Amino acid sequence: MLKTNNMGTEKITLTALPYTEDALEPVISRQTISIHHGKHLQAYVNNLNNLLPGSGYEGKDLIEIVKSSKGGIFNNAGQILNHELYFKQFRTPQSDNQPKGNIAAAIVRDFGSFEAFKEEFQKKGATLFGSGWVWLSADTEGKLVITQEQNASNPAVSGNKPLLTFDVWEHAYYLDYQNRRPDHLSALWSIINWEVVEERYNAK
Ligand code: MN
Repeated sequence: MLKTNNMGTEKITLTALPYTEDALEPVISRQTISIHHGKHLQAYVNNLNNLLPGSGYEGKDLIEIVKSSKGGIFNNAGQILNHELYFKQFRTPQSDNQPKGNIAAAIVRDFGSFEAFKEEFQKKGATLFGSGWVWLSADTEGKLVITQEQNASNPAVSGNKPLLTFDVWEHAYYLDYQNRRPDHLSALWSIINWEVVEERYNAK
C-alpha cells in the first residue's frame, strides 16, 4: 500500500491512472476523469503534504494513517486511499462484465447471486445521504459486506479489507449525470476490472 514517503521523499505523489483519461467513455467522460483525478485527488495529495510535517504521521502507510487519525489528516488521507482504490478498479467498458473465480463464488455465497449483490450495492449507493462511498469489503472472517461510508471514510477503519467502491460524491458524476446518481451507479458495472477486485480479495 502507498506509503507517505514513496519515491524516496517525505512527500506523497499523485499516482498515475492505469488508463488514458478517455478510456472509460461513455460511462465516465474524459472531462470528469481529468478533473476528478487531476484536480480533486491532486488537491487531497497537496493538502496531506501540507498537514504531515510535525504530525507524527510522516512516512506511515496511508492505511495506518486512516485507521488512527482524525480531522484534516484523516479526511485527506482517507480520500487519497479511497481514490487510489477507486481509479485502479476500472477498465474500458465490456459487455456482460462479470466477476470470475474466488470473488464470484464469494459474492454468490454471501448475497445469493451477482444480480442480488448489484441491486443491494446500487441501492446503498443511491440512498447514501450527502457525500461518501459505498463499499464492498471482506470482514476478518472473509465474509463480504456492503457498507455506506460517509465523506472520507473507508471500511479499513472498522478492520475490514476494502475490495470495490463507488464514489457518490457529486464530483464523481455531476458533469455527466447531473442529479441522476442512480443512472451513474448502474452504468459503472461495465467498467469494473474484476481481476483487480479479485486480487484484493485474495491478498493476505
Ligand atoms: Mn471523488
